[in-house]
Amino acid sequence: MQNLSTVFSYTDKTGLNELTTQIARAYENMTDGPVAPAWPVEEIKRAISAIDFTKPIPLDQALREAANLMERGDLRSASARCFGYFNPTSAWPAVVGDMLAAVRNPQMCVTSHAPASVTMERTIADIVCEKLGMPSGTAHFTSGGSEANETAVLAALCRASSDYIEHGVRAFIDMPSLYVSADAHLAWIKIAKATGLGAAAVRLVPTMGDGRMDAQKLATMIADDKQSGFHPFMIAATCGTTGAGMIDPMQACFEIALHENIHFHVDAAWAGALIFDKNRLGLLAGIERADSVTIDAHKWLSVPMGAGIIALRDPTYAANVFSVKTSYMPEGDGQDFYITTNQWSRRFLGLRLWMMLRVIGEVGYREMFDQHFALAAYMRAQLPKYGWTVRNTSTLPVIVFDDTKYGIASQAIADEVERRGKVWLGRVEFEGRSVLRICTTSFLSTQEDVDLLMSELNAARGSLRK
Ligand SMILES: *Cc1c(COP(=O)(O)O)cnc(C)c1O
Repeated sequence: MQNLSTVFSYTDKTGLNELTTQIARAYENMTDGPVAPAWPVEEIKRAISAIDFTKPIPLDQALREAANLMERGDLRSASARCFGYFNPTSAWPAVVGDMLAAVRNPQMCVTSHAPASVTMERTIADIVCEKLGMPSGTAHFTSGGSEANETAVLAALCRASSDYIEHGVRAFIDMPSLYVSADAHLAWIKIAKATGLGAAAVRLVPTMGDGRMDAQKLATMIADDKQSGFHPFMIAATCGTTGAGMIDPMQACFEIALHENIHFHVDAAWAGALIFDKNRLGLLAGIERADSVTIDAHKWLSVPMGAGIIALRDPTYAANVFSVKTSYMPEGDGQDFYITTNQWSRRFLGLRLWMMLRVIGEVGYREMFDQHFALAAYMRAQLPKYGWTVRNTSTLPVIVFDDTKYGIASQAIADEVERRGKVWLGRVEFEGRSVLRICTTSFLSTQEDVDLLMSELNAARGSLRK
């Protein structure tokens, strides 16, 4: 048996050299080499099941073993050549901050235990609120966009009925319903099931043929629903759909919510990052009307997963949802995270964004966004030259497209690109069509990476044609 205090502690810096090696290796891998896993899944499972947990090994060896499995077995979603979904390449300052948070491990659920960390986190949250035009609002970090959206639902339910706190959804005679576009994120369905609303509470409003919610249909649907046993309590517009980067007509949605006197939420999980780009605030027009906003720092702000943010214009609605009294927690200032948010023990997530804003700053983010918009514009211009048709009109760096030269199915092309392994892209349904999807949202991506993507697409199509 090894001596516990040396194995558990950092005294002799065991593992640090190996960690440095593995970090350098991981970042190198992101700019170079394949995106696809080197090992098929059966081989990964075999390698993992061969590990004997009854026989502890030295830390540096264990680290090498874990890193090796991840390197060979996982899709390199943080790579410069991975153009699928909104996975970030973790920026180094945020990673460093996160390691510091792990080591110091402040207990942030009560302010009095970690006043520095809590105040630092609140400072970042306040910056977000100020950017969103919520000077007297509050924001807090969540595990991700899903938890953030769930908090918005709970706030909206409290606003719709003061009895919700005591009686839950039974406080409503009719079925409480919330309105999102048919292209919204499916997290809404999970949230509806988990909060006791039921999946049928999520009313999917048709789009206008371009992936954006049809506000006229939203108004009619709400009016009809009120006649047929529903109690509308919330409209959630998406600012940057996950599939095609489309932005719902936020102003029109807001006006309907205002007219109905119900909660207006904006799910800006990905695109909300642009609050840090003073030159592009116009793209988010209408977000300043929201009663609540979701932003994932772990998407376009390039901090590690999972770091979501929920901003609430009027924090009093959700306050009672999370408030509890226990004898083993100290009397606080009424603002302790454990009684104002969903989590109890929580990680110091705000430090990731704190480090980014201290080291990279808004100016750095702006440069990153410039690069992403430029790469997407470049790709948009390339695609038609080779007989690919762009299907969305997003103002953001997300492109959905399909092959119109030979009419080869998008799924087959995506599979072939993945098999070739050099780049990776997604496949989604958009307005009834199966399309390929790319977003340029890694700070590592360059024009050469986009050129490689273009040539891989053409090569994949060519080999399928034979
Ligand atoms: C990613 C995303 C979510 C879900 O967020 P998680 O952080 O994955 O929980 C919700 N809405 C939109 C628009 C998203 O893009």
